[in-house]
Amino acid sequence: MNYRHAYHAGNFGDVLKHVALSLCLAHMRRKETPFRVIDTHAGSGLYRLDRSEAEKTGEWRAGIARIYGPDADPLPDGVSDVLAPYFGTLGALNAAARLAVYPGSPIIAQYALRQGDALVANELHPDDCTALKAALGNDRKCRVTSIDAYTALKASLPPKERRAIVLIDPPFEEAGELVRMTDALRDALGRFETGIYLLWYPIKDEKPITRFCRKISEVVAERGLDPVLRVELLLRPLRNPLLLNGAGLLIVNAPYLLKEQLETILPMLAKRMGDGQKGWHRIDQFASTKQSDSLVTTPTERGHKRSKHD
Ligand code: SAM
Repeated sequence: MNYRHAYHAGNFGDVLKHVALSLCLAHMRRKETPFRVIDTHAGSGLYRLDRSEAEKTGEWRAGIARIYGPDADPLPDGVSDVLAPYFGTLGALNAAARLAVYPGSPIIAQYALRQGDALVANELHPDDCTALKAALGNDRKCRVTSIDAYTALKASLPPKERRAIVLIDPPFEEAGELVRMTDALRDALGRFETGIYLLWYPIKDEKPITRFCRKISEVVAERGLDPVLRVELLLRPLRNPLLLNGAGLLIVNAPYLLKEQLETILPMLAKRMGDGQKGWHRIDQFASTKQSDSLVTTPTERGHKRSKHD
């Protein structure tokens, strides 16, 4: 286990994931009935951006710092409402809109919990797990475990509240992770069909990702659920598969209006975080048909559609 999220905290992939997670949490809070968050690969929770790990890669400067904090340009009209739940957590941790600390997924979840809600945060790396426990503090709503992510997921389902968000966010250190995620989702839906599942993935090359999306859409279709929501933020065209060209999320049982909310901010994220003017995004309900397997992209902040060959 070499991967340490401290090097990557606050990068463009985190921003995409954490905005979507924050919107899902806000959706859960609209009903009074309690909910649970299950974070299978939780990381260490809190990341100081002036520490050597974050400084070494500087990834957060090309991610969160482009939209939040003293160096960010003012946001265009219409995006603040959608970003409000995410910025709320950032604001609670950083005085006067400064940007010194970045919250990982378990901390974002913790900030959204009410009395009666619960978080299970699982992290296998012993040092990160110790840091995670410290970051969550003595909060009886939060439980930390340190076992294999997919074993933790099985053990957590179904949740007693019968309302849950599940985040599956592996480090992609070992081959076969996309297949393990697919198997885990199939098993999880068998145990608990109505959860909101967020599956994060890195995008280097197009083909393995299309295959993954197709497999997930089949798993979802087998259970008669709505097509999975696919959301991707891409830094550049997918020409060099050795680069991390983008990041994506597949969201099963996506909350009502999540697609519309994300559509509002994706052009801005792509414009600010992409390489030069090359950033783009993709958002659709992915059903495994020939038509939806083809690439349809939306150029940043313009609003008309083009194919990848434009
Ligand atoms: N979800 C976190 C967030 O958004 O802030 C980031 C998680 S990071 C991408 C992946 C984490 O999974 C790492 O902290 C790593 O130590 C942990 N990890 C790696 N293999 C694992 C396993 N088999 N089970 C549980 N956690 C694992």
